[in-house]
Amino acid sequence: MTTPVNARRWTNWGRNQESIAEVLTPGSIDEVTTQVKQAAETGRRIKVVGSGHSFTAIAVADDQRMFVHRMAGLVAVDGELVTVQGGMPLSTLNTILAEHGLAMPNLGDIDAQTVAGAISTGTHGTGIAYSTLASSVEAVTLVTANGQVERYTADAPEFPAVRVGLGALGVIVEVTLRCVPAFILLADERPMLLDDVLAGLDEWMPENDHVEFFWYPYTNRAQLKRNRKVTENDRPLGRFRGWLDDDFLSNTVWQGICAVGRRIPATVPTLSAVSARGLSARTYTGRSHEVFCSPRKVKFTEMEYEVPRAALPEVLDELAKIFARLPFKVQFPVEVRFTGPDDIWLSHGYGRESAYIAVHQYIGAPYEPYFRAVEEVCTALGGRPHWGKLHYRDAASLRTAYPRFDDFLAVRDRLDPDRVFTNDYLNRVLGA
Ligand SMILES: Cc1cc2nc3c(=O)[nH]c(=O)nc-3n(C[C@H](O)[C@H](O)[C@H](O)COP(=O)(O)OP(=O)(O)OC[C@H]3O[C@@H](n4cnc5c(N)ncnc54)[C@H](O)[C@@H]3O)c2cc1C
Repeated sequence: MTTPVNARRWTNWGRNQESIAEVLTPGSIDEVTTQVKQAAETGRRIKVVGSGHSFTAIAVADDQRMFVHRMAGLVAVDGELVTVQGGMPLSTLNTILAEHGLAMPNLGDIDAQTVAGAISTGTHGTGIAYSTLASSVEAVTLVTANGQVERYTADAPEFPAVRVGLGALGVIVEVTLRCVPAFILLADERPMLLDDVLAGLDEWMPENDHVEFFWYPYTNRAQLKRNRKVTENDRPLGRFRGWLDDDFLSNTVWQGICAVGRRIPATVPTLSAVSARGLSARTYTGRSHEVFCSPRKVKFTEMEYEVPRAALPEVLDELAKIFARLPFKVQFPVEVRFTGPDDIWLSHGYGRESAYIAVHQYIGAPYEPYFRAVEEVCTALGGRPHWGKLHYRDAASLRTAYPRFDDFLAVRDRLDPDRVFTNDYLNRVLGA
């Protein structure tokens, strides 16, 4: 078979997924519909890719790869309802919202993802009164496999499917988000013993909008982060302190520590203990998106599991045992976040309060036995894997975790009966 002239190699951010596929770069909804119709008529497939920040093969194209960076503009601002094209990066969205005195109610750790990519995998931040970013979606405009342009709002039966659609239902060309007035966060970050963090969670959650913590493997130490809304931006981080903490220490120094640990694995527990002891406390204020998101320059691979919130202590107990028996060392801290329930069928937090446990390994370090062991623990507790982060589940196993799994499949059958938008990952997690 000859390779098409415009076929190009692509890799994701984590450099653990790659493929060669023919490239499509539509600049308008009309071009998307033409390309989708052509694919459907000729029995070809299209996989849309956003910023390539998923660790799973969810965005891997095996036939045609559609980039939507030319469809990344602002469509309309109507009070707190903001409509943007699907390819807009969250960083651009945040800037535009700030210019309009608005903000996303919650965000994850970074702002590099596209709006469509972020909602499609259930991207989330932390905060028990918040769920995934997709829960802020009021309307999604899709180009479906028959080339139709369909706008889905709350009254459409497909609405609970299209907001976290895994890229399986069509090309998202526009998204309407319900935003909130711009707000300031007071961030409080401090090292603590893990036991004290776990003991304090129930007290801190109601008092703070956003609570999370990082646990350092082989230690009883954690870094607690609490953010709450305030009215004055009166304690901004100085430029130097911001650069020192969020760029130099979190990226440059951390990169060096990871490189040493990978070369001399026996040093990892000591490095983890030293890193945990080196943590310092800081309190500052800032615009919400600047507090939520920071640059991540050190490459890693990641798995993240959602479990019912009450199951968190059991998962952490088991994790300590996993660290002790793994044939290699774990360098990255474990990140723990919390969200409230939503009604989106394939949202990890569907119908319950959640704890998210994210496990990482430095790029190039072994991870599969670690991730599989964590998955076994979380699966037994009814856990749901993040669609954009590594996991090993298949459709039969995921059906047991999502009460509305079959309803989602019925929407998929209706919108994409010939599987124009599928790939190997979707065949695995949804069925062929
Ligand atoms: C450093 C880093 C930090 C992260 N932090 C967080 C975090 O804090 N919280 C969290 O929950 N996740 C986090 N993630 C995961 C990330 O948010 C998700 O994987 C997200 O889906 C990536 O968005 P993307 O634009 O890169 O989409 P891609 O990875 O490119 O694509 C993801 C899915 O969206 C589909 N898609 C993309 N655009 C469209 C479109 N226009 N129409 C239809 N389908 C489309 C793709 O086909 C694919 O199925 C992080 C990832 C990295 C690498």
